[in-house]
Amino acid sequence: DGSRPAAAPTVTPATGLDARTVRKDFPGLDREVHGKPLVYLDSAATSQTPRPVIDAMARYYEHFNSNVHRGVHALAEESTEAFEGARHAVARFVGADPRGVVFTKNATEAFNLVAYSWARKRLGPGDVLLSTQMEHHANLVPWQLAAQDAGFELAYVPVTDEGELDRERFDEIVASGRVKLFAVTAMSNVVGTINPVAELAGAVRAANDEAVVVVDGAQSVPHLPTDQSALDADFLCFSGHKMLGPTGVGVLAARPEVLDPMPPFLSGGEMITNVTLEGAEFNEIPYRFEAGTPVIAEAIGLGAAVEYLERIGMSAVRAHEVALLQRALPALEEVEGVTVHGPRDPERRGAAVSFSVAGLHPHDIGTLVDREGVAVRAGHHCAKPLVRSLGSAATTRASFYLYNTEDEIDALIAALEATKRFFD
Ligand code: PLP
Repeated sequence: DGSRPAAAPTVTPATGLDARTVRKDFPGLDREVHGKPLVYLDSAATSQTPRPVIDAMARYYEHFNSNVHRGVHALAEESTEAFEGARHAVARFVGADPRGVVFTKNATEAFNLVAYSWARKRLGPGDVLLSTQMEHHANLVPWQLAAQDAGFELAYVPVTDEGELDRERFDEIVASGRVKLFAVTAMSNVVGTINPVAELAGAVRAANDEAVVVVDGAQSVPHLPTDQSALDADFLCFSGHKMLGPTGVGVLAARPEVLDPMPPFLSGGEMITNVTLEGAEFNEIPYRFEAGTPVIAEAIGLGAAVEYLERIGMSAVRAHEVALLQRALPALEEVEGVTVHGPRDPERRGAAVSFSVAGLHPHDIGTLVDREGVAVRAGHHCAKPLVRSLGSAATTRASFYLYNTEDEIDALIAALEATKRFFD
């Protein structure tokens, strides 16, 4: 609209992250959609994949494709080394103990593991499982099913109009001393809010020293420097495909002392040390929780993804996203009829930005901006209770990552303006 300065090359001054250089590592970004250059603003759903991740997975299939932990031949040794190396890389990336790092199929399976092997076994009538209205369905439905089986109570922290957790209500619920499992997201996939997880976890533990804390890191781990002990999380769940890794791999990073006494979740090969026709003895952690042939190529790909992110530096990734938010939030709000949901302060939020446009349905917006090459998400974002609290059934969400540029924010705004003109 002429009032915004022309986009300079996207270099974040404090860190030097140059998104234009970073983009060259992502072959998936180099394409056109409907005859326009792709502007990929859906990384909160699934991120693009850099060349080193694709190469690491291809290397596995081309050079040492074999099962892990079982063989004595050279290929099996090489695949086991690469797979366990990935476990160590992922553990280092989130400050976890590798003995507590379980490879799952996605974050959802990590939550289910905790729901089956901890919540169903340790919670019962009189206990409260506290979650929040801000959660993805993956951090809600497994607890609801477990509560039906085990007879414990569910409670939820409501969300304020500003998109923050209601601290007063949280304090009231926690004061009962009955909260034995607290499940909270570190960063909302809808409104971007960064929650003060360690502070909340501390309050829950102060009221009940038997409580465990489950943190949904699906959005925070890809975008913020992460340290599991600093978060005070007993269980940290996240997905590879949102952090430059492949689909098909997720992580449960558990404190070994909490994981070790837990019974198996899925069962079969790999997770045993001995089997007779009468019963089985179970393997040590983390292998007890990786039944069957694990996600070998995918874990190796995820290992390459975290090494790639480490080379760039998570502080640089975060600073770049804050810079993009500083441009995107005011630019979106300048578009007539647009309401941005969630915190306004870029320091208080991540780079998933949901908004509504008066008189337009998010699916129409998503479809029309796609014609301009701009990929955004439209819908309930698997967080229906939160989206409903925003007063609608759906929002449009643009989400940014290390490879997005300021030009792409301008392309989003231009595509939105074109969409509005189309419906005028
Ligand atoms: N939690 C949050 C906050 C998410 O954004 C997502 C994915 O959208 C998930 C959990 C579930 O991840 P997955 O579908 O990879 O299991």
